[in-house]
Amino acid sequence: MNFSSKLLEDAVNEFSKLPGVGQKTALRLVLHLLNKEQEEVNQFGNTFIKLKKEIKNCTICRNISDFSICEICTSHKRDQATICVVEDTRDVMAIENTSQYFGVYHVLGGLISPMDGIGPTDLFIDGLVARVAVGDIKEVILALSPNMEGDTTLFYLYKKLKDFNIPISTIARGIAFGGELEYTDEITLGRSIITRVPYENAMMR
Ligand SMILES: [Zn+2]
Repeated sequence: MNFSSKLLEDAVNEFSKLPGVGQKTALRLVLHLLNKEQEEVNQFGNTFIKLKKEIKNCTICRNISDFSICEICTSHKRDQATICVVEDTRDVMAIENTSQYFGVYHVLGGLISPMDGIGPTDLFIDGLVARVAVGDIKEVILALSPNMEGDTTLFYLYKKLKDFNIPISTIARGIAFGGELEYTDEITLGRSIITRVPYENAMMR
């Protein structure tokens, strides 16, 4: 692409670094922003600067939050004794959208994936074990994506948690293998949480 302006080219290049944004789309977005008032463009930029500077991960569950402990972990309306383990914040949002789950979460920050060089120590697994070890937890629900990495992580977590003698369940496989939680519709995801099964039973299927 030939640009008449270096400033324009730089802006387009920044946008095309985003996932799923090609140069043509980037150019369209940049030209769109260019037509806005200075004030609006300032706000656009400042929103991301503020986001990156001020966002936190909850110290208990690692969910993205404006506070050092998130609103779910501090809520008296939530069942603090049931932990739903998920891969990332998008899964928390997907499950919250189902309105079928009233416990708390634990965000791993990824899945075990030897191919991508992601091992158990790269994830927030120690934090989960520590929460369970405190002793007030009555169930751990493993709600991970039904794919190879999800299964590997499920098995690893099960081994880590089984000696605490609390129920460990996994969400029912209404979700097709190879899929991702994020792309499951709310009704299916909500139902799969309600009809969760003990992990031992799930393994034998
Ligand atoms: Zn939290």
